[in-house]
Amino acid sequence: NQGIGSWPARRARMTPDRVAVSYRGREHTYRELLERVHRLASVLGVRRGDRVAFLGANQPAMVETFFAAGLLGAVFVPLNTRLAEPELRFILDDAEAAVLVLGEERDGAGLPGRHVGGAAYEELVASGSPEPIDEPVSQDDVCLIMYTSGTTGRPKGAMLTHANLTWNAVNLLVDVPLAHDEVVLISAPMFHIAALAQTLIPCVLKGGRAVLEPSFDVERTYDLIEHERVTVMFGVPSMFGFLTRSPRWPTADLSSLRHLLCGGAPVPEPLIRTYQERGLTFLQGYGMTETAPGALFLGAEHSVDKAGSAGVPCFFSDVRLVAPDGSPAAPGQPGELYVQGPNVMSGYWRRPEETAKVLSEDGWFRSGDVGVADEDGYVRISDRINDVIISGGENIYPAEVESALYEHPAVAECAVIGVADERWGEVGKALVVPRAGVTTSPDDLLKHLDGRLARYKIPKYLEFVADLPKNAAGKLLKAPLRKLYGGG
Ligand code: AMP
Ligand code: MG
Repeated sequence: NQGIGSWPARRARMTPDRVAVSYRGREHTYRELLERVHRLASVLGVRRGDRVAFLGANQPAMVETFFAAGLLGAVFVPLNTRLAEPELRFILDDAEAAVLVLGEERDGAGLPGRHVGGAAYEELVASGSPEPIDEPVSQDDVCLIMYTSGTTGRPKGAMLTHANLTWNAVNLLVDVPLAHDEVVLISAPMFHIAALAQTLIPCVLKGGRAVLEPSFDVERTYDLIEHERVTVMFGVPSMFGFLTRSPRWPTADLSSLRHLLCGGAPVPEPLIRTYQERGLTFLQGYGMTETAPGALFLGAEHSVDKAGSAGVPCFFSDVRLVAPDGSPAAPGQPGELYVQGPNVMSGYWRRPEETAKVLSEDGWFRSGDVGVADEDGYVRISDRINDVIISGGENIYPAEVESALYEHPAVAECAVIGVADERWGEVGKALVVPRAGVTTSPDDLLKHLDGRLARYKIPKYLEFVADLPKNAAGKLLKAPLRKLYGGG
C-alpha cells in the first residue's frame, strides 16, 4: 500500500509509542492508532474505490476513518457539519457513499444510506479485527473527495489523490521545518482542506502529536496552547483575529508556539503586525481545495517585508498569472492565477465538463482568483473572478443563495453580494426586488432560507430594492451593486 492509509503503519514501525492523537483527555499512540484503524477498516464493509463519508466535528473517529478508508483503497468524503440537511443529502447522493460514518455527536437522522458509528462508535471499533490489511493502493488512486461549492450553484467534489496530498505535505515541509516533536493544534474543521492537509497529514508524516478540538473556541485555544504546549497551529484570519480580541491576548503564555499557519482568505496586514508585535510571525499560504491546497507560500523570512502578499509558488508547484488577452501578466499587472504541479487535483467527481473548464490538458488549473506579482515574483491576491464571498474561511457562493431565495414566491429578482466585515472578512448581503402584490418581509425571507442552507450562507443583511442594475442583454451587474450597497 503506497497510499496515505499506510502511514499509521509506517509510523507505528518507526515510533510506536509516541502519542499520535490527543482529544479531550484521551490519547492514542501510533501503535494504538494503527490498531484502531485496522479494526475500523475491517467493519466498514467497503471495497476499493467505494466512497466512505464522514459527518462530524474533529475527533479521533474522523482521523481513523480517513486512514481506514485509505488503507482499503476507498475514498474519504468528509462532510461540512454546518450544512443543512438537504445540502448533506445532495452530497451523499452525488458521491454515492457506500457508508456514512458518524461522529459521536451525530445521529444521521434524515440522511440516506447505511450509517455506522455515532454514539456507538467505540463499540464499532472494538468489534473489528486488529489483523493488518494489505490492499494494493497506488499513489495515483483517489484518496479524498472534498466538496466545494461552485459559481454554478451545486457543489462538486474535488478528487485528490494520495500523491496530491503527499506532495502538498512535502511542499509544506520544504518551507516549514516541522520537527519530530510538534504538538499540532487542529481546531479548524478537517472537512476543509487546510486543517486536513496542512496540519493532520504533515503531523502524522513527522510523527507529531495532533491535538484535536471539535471547534474553534478562544478560551479553549488559550488553555490548550498553555497546557499542551502547542507548537503548530493553523487558522483562517478570523480565528487569529478572535484571539487578539480576548482579554487573555496580552498575558497568555504563547512561548511554545513555533509555527503559525494562516490562510484560506486574505490575511489583513494589521493582523500580521499585531502578531509581529507579540513576537509571532505568520506563515501565510494561499491555496484552494482543488490544489490540495498549497499553491503560494510566504515564509517567515519575508513575512514582514512582503506583508500583504501570499508569497511565491510552493517548491514543487508552479503558478502563472494570465492577463485577460491570454498573455502572461507583467509584474504590477493583474492576471488570473493558474496552478500546475503534483498537488493539482485529478478533476471533479463525475463532472467532466466542469473539470474541462478549469483544468487544461497539460495540467494547469484555473483558480478564478486574480493576482499581481511584484518584481521579485511575490504574488498579492487582488480580486476574484468567480462570484464568491469568503466569510470566516467558509466560501459562500451567491448563486446558491440566490437560487434558494428564488424558491420563495415573493422574490421577483435577487442578488447576493459580499460586504466587508471586521470579524468575518466578508458577510453576505441580499438585495431583493419583491414581487408586486405579494406581501412579505425581509425576516420572512431569512426564515425561508433557514433549514435550506447552512447558517453561514444565510445573508447577514437583506434589503428590499426597487430594481437591480443590468446590462443591455439583461445580465445582472454585480460591480455597480457592490458600489451602491457594499457599505454594509
Ligand atoms: P476553497 O476552495 O474553499 O479551499 O477556497 C479557496 C479560495 O480561498 C481561493 O480560491 C481564494 O479565493 C481564497 N484564498 C485562500 N487563501 C487565500 C489567501 N492567502 N489570500 C487570499 N485569498 C485566499
Ligand atoms: Mg473552492
